[in-house]
Amino acid sequence: MEVITNPRQMQTLMLSLKRQGKKIGFVPTMGYLHEGHLSLIRCSKKENNITVVSIFVNPIQFGANEDFGRYPRDFERDKSLCEKENVDYIFYPSYEEMYPDGFQTYVEVSELSKGLCGDFRPGHFKGVATVVAKLFNIVCPDNAYFGKKDFQQLKVIQRMVKDLNFPVNVVGCPVVREPDGLAMSSRNKYLSTEERESALYINKALFEAKRMFEDGITDPNLIKERVRQIISQAKHLKEIQYVEIVDSNTLKPVDKVKKSDVLAVAVYIGNTRLIDNIEF
Ligand code: AMP
Repeated sequence: MEVITNPRQMQTLMLSLKRQGKKIGFVPTMGYLHEGHLSLIRCSKKENNITVVSIFVNPIQFGANEDFGRYPRDFERDKSLCEKENVDYIFYPSYEEMYPDGFQTYVEVSELSKGLCGDFRPGHFKGVATVVAKLFNIVCPDNAYFGKKDFQQLKVIQRMVKDLNFPVNVVGCPVVREPDGLAMSSRNKYLSTEERESALYINKALFEAKRMFEDGITDPNLIKERVRQIISQAKHLKEIQYVEIVDSNTLKPVDKVKKSDVLAVAVYIGNTRLIDNIEF
């Protein structure tokens, strides 16, 4: 496995591998890898000749009062996890190389970036779309793997690829959970033992919502109210930012719940913002 930090060097290498007929799979991450990330890597390994993982905590997708500075980072640990998974290349650029002086070009996916997290994190999806567009141009992947854990992000990227004709196939992969149901996230590291217990009410609520739908309830308000009730039992709950049931293509709230709609939530447990979702 090779670690490459220079964008130009990465691009030249990828283009030459492509000329040799290699199929390139790409897993963009912000590092502090867990089983969720590893599931994307394993998917890429199965479907491509070469697997590239990028590790870059993207400053432009964080708001001024968000956790960019304290976001967990451990490159040596990430590197050894990637080595164990037989990753071929890690792309690990510096901030200066990704955003040199004078940088001023951004990608904005206007409609899908509204609602849900978009309402609470202004500019977040613009930062995500911009960095992913840059990474796609640097890595030139055939296939790129994203988790459904960040459902709105996946939709934004799929739209961007379509609208801007990126020659990339975007693959959405299932949410990986801890044995007790908590969705894996690098941010779970922020949780104290007690806060982690509280966080479990999120997945309990999502599973209960799915059960309600399977029992024939299709009124979104009934389901959302029950979800709020369950999450409100969490001792360390600070804020429920949203509980929403949306159409999985438009991300617009639905009047009547149907199969394939998505229930998405964002919740503060203590000072940690957690998101999760479930497909009906
Ligand atoms: P991040 O490092 O948090 O930016 O995540 C990098 C990629 O891993 C994104 O496509 C995420 O959606 C995906 N991911 C993060 N957590 C999970 C999870 N629990 N299950 C599946 N994919 C995940």
